Amino acid sequence: MIEPETIIDGRYRVISRVGSGGMADVYLAQDQLLGREVAVKVLHQHFAEDQEFVERFRREASSAAGLSHPNIVGIFDRGEWNGTYYIAMEYVAGRSLKSIVRENGPLEPAVAIDIVIQILRAAQFAHKRGVIHRDLKPHNVILDEEGRVRVTDFGIARAGASDMTLTGSIMGTAQYLSPEQAQGYSVSEASDIYSVGVILYELLTGVVPFEGDSAVAIAFKQVSAEPRPPSELNPALPPSLDAIVLRALAKDPAQRFESAGELIAALERARHELPAFSGATVGARGNGPPGQASGRAGPGAGALLLAPHGRGGDGYGPAPEDDRRRRGLLWALAALLAAGLVALALVLLLPGSSKVRVPNVVGHTEQSASTALRSAGLNPVPSLAASSSVPTGLVISETPPAGSLVKKGSRVSILVSGGPASEPLVNVEGLSASQAVAKLRKAGFKPTTKTQPSTTVAAGKVIGTNPPAGTELQLGSPVTVLVSSGPEAVHVPDVVGQSLQAAEATLTNAGLAVGTVTKKVSSTQAPGTVLSQSPSTGASAHVGDKVNLTVAQASNEAAVPNVVGKSEALAAAALGEAGFKPKTAPAPTTEPAQVGVVLKQSPAAGARARKGSSVTLSVGVLSTPTTPTTPTTPPATTTTTTPPAAAG
Ligand code: ADP
Ligand code: MG
Repeated sequence: MIEPETIIDGRYRVISRVGSGGMADVYLAQDQLLGREVAVKVLHQHFAEDQEFVERFRREASSAAGLSHPNIVGIFDRGEWNGTYYIAMEYVAGRSLKSIVRENGPLEPAVAIDIVIQILRAAQFAHKRGVIHRDLKPHNVILDEEGRVRVTDFGIARAGASDMTLTGSIMGTAQYLSPEQAQGYSVSEASDIYSVGVILYELLTGVVPFEGDSAVAIAFKQVSAEPRPPSELNPALPPSLDAIVLRALAKDPAQRFESAGELIAALERARHELPAFSGATVGARGNGPPGQASGRAGPGAGALLLAPHGRGGDGYGPAPEDDRRRRGLLWALAALLAAGLVALALVLLLPGSSKVRVPNVVGHTEQSASTALRSAGLNPVPSLAASSSVPTGLVISETPPAGSLVKKGSRVSILVSGGPASEPLVNVEGLSASQAVAKLRKAGFKPTTKTQPSTTVAAGKVIGTNPPAGTELQLGSPVTVLVSSGPEAVHVPDVVGQSLQAAEATLTNAGLAVGTVTKKVSSTQAPGTVLSQSPSTGASAHVGDKVNLTVAQASNEAAVPNVVGKSEALAAAALGEAGFKPKTAPAPTTEPAQVGVVLKQSPAAGARARKGSSVTLSVGVLSTPTTPTTPTTPPATTTTTTPPAAAG
């Protein structure tokens, strides 16, 4: 429930709630952008979680958005708000056909025909554009203040054929569901025709053809039970209308009217054949003979229903005199025929008349079957059997079968469904979502899907079910199918500059892992420091993804230390520590102070050289001067020729 004054999607200011259906709430709201009143239909949160459903809701809304017709409630806008979806449409002040029928019972046949023709004009217009309503029912027909019929929810109300599971979402609307929809088969224009047939039936008789304790029971009847002709419930109805209604309600879509247009034409013909008084009440209400349906219409509905129509208000003035006489004759004949039938029935039921026909009670509740059999003069003997196809409490079969002629008072065994047996839930792990849903449906369960991230199951594939596979479950129970949305998306953290150990911890915390580690010599970064990463921060990644790192390696070059002036031993130690190998070359000298001292080094101090390479040290060795004139001059580079004495 959305509070008044709430602004939906920054645009629609909620004024009040106008109604609520199985899958949405409808609010009257003020469109603040265009300053007009709109109806905003907000999908229940619970449906917003079903991705498949939402996808359809959005797609269908856009196909219906293009429908502009005087009998169709226009769609203005749709969007996403507050975690769910909404559709903004024309607000129609008026009353829904459901509330009119509920309060007033059956309508005048001419009025019923007029309303249904307008519904059909809307359907015809949509069908020509490839849009099927899928959920035609009196709740989706609003009579506006001028009495014009406006059909809402074109194509948006239902998720579609494959979603036609008998879940709570269609509770209360199963009465208008075509047999093919009830069985989950594909939907066509003929499905809308069937629903219109149900609406017409209800407008003419005040009741729907099939009722039951549950949506399943009703759907079952849509598929397998024969409707009672409307005239049985409202004897004032002419046979031509019976025929039209029953043809629209044919189980086989191919047996129904071929198009909305064809049904409109049939209804227009039937309207001309209506008894004259029926037509007359349209213009001047309340003057129908007693027993006519008009007598039951309340003044409120009358005012609304009988107001002049914008469209389709033609063609039912009083019939010409001779027509009227001819009809009178026909009606008299019909009455005679009816009387004859009653007499025949009485004869059959009289005590002493020995044979009766077994009525068809398959698909009825146990109670109604027993009542029907008893009133046929038979003796019902019920027994229970488990059944996964026939809903609990309904008759599966009868023996002897319907139609048999049996002695009055005979026993008729009726097998009543004790409900579906339990079965272990099938395993659908690893299947695609649609395969899993189909398999579960086929097995007799009611699957709904829910997505969930997973690192082990590929996106779109089934992780498992809730309850889990193998659970003993009543057929028809709901099952949640958990579908993988793939691994959860994660943010790749920036680990450049961290130590390898710290980077590993950071990545693990983020749900990622360290991939390959490449070492690279760096002269600027401390060994072990992360120099670069792939993917880099900000890239999209999923839980469990690997991040490759490049890490600084200690350089294998070093600066050669300065060892000139040091003793040979100290110089060798210093070089060894810096990673170099000392190599001594004797340098003859006459200066005793230079003996054993490094006089020169190569490479020179400060130069960079590969670790492990040798550094040549010229170490002074005492030599006898060959020329007495230059005793103090150290030798030049001629030392190599002089064989060394015992060095160091
Ligand atoms: P349902 O059609 O099953 O009743 P909805 O959610 O479609 O469920 O609509 C709920 C109620 O809101 C309807 O019964 C109707 O009274 C009202 N409603 C729907 N659409 C409109 C509209 N465009 N203008 C006025 N009232 C509407
Ligand atoms: Mg609706």
